Amino acid sequence: MWTYVNPRGRYYMRAKSYFSFGTSLHQALQRFYDAGDTGVTTASEAVAALEESWIDSGYETPDQMADALSEGKEILARHLEAVEQQPPSGKTVFIERQFRHDLGEFVLIGRVDRVDEQPDGTYRIVDYKSGRESVSEDDVRNDIAMSIYQLILSRRFDDRRVEASIVALRSGEEATVRLSSAQLTELEQDLVAIGQEILRRNWDEMTPVAKPLCERCDFLPLCRQHPDYEPLLPA
Ligand code: SF4
Repeated sequence: MWTYVNPRGRYYMRAKSYFSFGTSLHQALQRFYDAGDTGVTTASEAVAALEESWIDSGYETPDQMADALSEGKEILARHLEAVEQQPPSGKTVFIERQFRHDLGEFVLIGRVDRVDEQPDGTYRIVDYKSGRESVSEDDVRNDIAMSIYQLILSRRFDDRRVEASIVALRSGEEATVRLSSAQLTELEQDLVAIGQEILRRNWDEMTPVAKPLCERCDFLPLCRQHPDYEPLLPA
């Protein structure tokens, strides 16, 4: 469970099974790709590591959690056995690394799963999606996080080409896209405009508007405190 505190009080955010599932898989993959971690160098060691560091919060029943663990082990084994058969073309240079890009009034921060240096020197950002069966180049191009990672790394390593890949862990499918310099500049300008709007808008004067997704939103207790918030369903 996550806690956040603001001037109106302390709120608790419910743990989510899909976050626990994704984080557990990411941690096992992180150990597999970390050359310094000599305890996890094979697919079967990664599966054992998944079991050891499995996060069990957010599941509704023990059976649901056990099914998820067994599914996670299957996905990880299948994916890493394929990697063992055909290793990636690049050399891993960063794992679970946070990068920052200063945009003046605010800082853009991104945490990438993995970065591989390709034989031609290109940095390829690799992002694992534990819930996906397939992925296309359009999916990568339209993924705002992948575009932001490319922007941050392009600015940090301006002597390198940077590209981004999404790996759909359930199928092993992978798609890669490289944004042009003009596309990165346009994205940067859009982010500056959005960031400035967020900084300048008077949020206290805004009224939260009820919508169907409010029912599942962790911030609902906070929005309900607003005198003009009218929920679609009674509390
Ligand atoms: S509860 Fe509030 S923050 Fe959440 S979706 Fe509804 S209006 Fe937005």
